[in-house]
Amino acid sequence: MAARQGVPRLSTGDMLREARRAGTRLGRKVQRRMDAGELVSDDVIMEIVAEALEAPAAAGGFVFDGFPRTLAQADGLAELLETRGNHLDAVLSLDVPDDELIARISGRRVCEAGGHVTHTRAIGDATRCPECGGTLFLRTDDEPDTVRRRLAVYREQTEPLLDYYARGETGLTVIDGSGAPDVVTARIDEALAGASSEMAT
Ligand code: AMP
Repeated sequence: MAARQGVPRLSTGDMLREARRAGTRLGRKVQRRMDAGELVSDDVIMEIVAEALEAPAAAGGFVFDGFPRTLAQADGLAELLETRGNHLDAVLSLDVPDDELIARISGRRVCEAGGHVTHTRAIGDATRCPECGGTLFLRTDDEPDTVRRRLAVYREQTEPLLDYYARGETGLTVIDGSGAPDVVTARIDEALAGASSEMAT
C-alpha cells in the first residue's frame, strides 16, 4: 500500500525488531514484552515515531503500520501531527475473523537475510526464501499461544481506537480484510481513491 502511494511505510514493529537485531539499549529494553505478545510502553513508541517522522523520506507523507495501538498513542500522534502541520488523510481498519488471523500469522515465515515475508500456504514446508534463498524463520511472537495473547491485548488496548477514529475528523474506513491479498488490495485502493480527493499532504 505504501509502495503504491509512493510513500514510506513506518512500521513500529519493524523499527523495534531492527533495534533488537542491532543489539541497542532500546532493543534489549523491549525484548521481553515483544516476545510475550505484550505492548511496549507508549513513551518508547512515541519516541521512535517522532524520530521516524524527522526522516526526509517521510516529508511527502507516510503509511503507519502497527501504530497507534493505544489511546495514549493516538493522542500523542494527534499532537505530533499538529506540531508538524500534517493531518491524517485516511484511517483504515482491516477486519479479519480471529480464526483466519491465527491461520495467517502462524503460517507467516520471515526471511532472515532480506526480511521478505511469505506464507506456508504459498511455500508449504520449504525452509528457504523463494525471493533470495535466505533462511526462513517463524517470529517468536507468531507462535500460536503468543498470537492468542496478542489478540487479547488488541481487544483490551487497541480496539477502543476504532471508536476514537470513527468519531474523529478523518473518520474510520472499515475494510473487509478476509479473502486473497489481491482482493483486499483492491478494496484498500478503492477506499483510498475515495480519500484521495481530500489528500493535501
Ligand atoms: P507488529 O510487528 O506490529 O505486530 O509488532 C510486534 C510487537 O512489537 C508487538 O506485539 C508489540 O510488542 C511491539 N509493538 C509494535 N508496535 C507497537 C505499538 N504501536 N505499541 C506498542 N507495542 C508495539
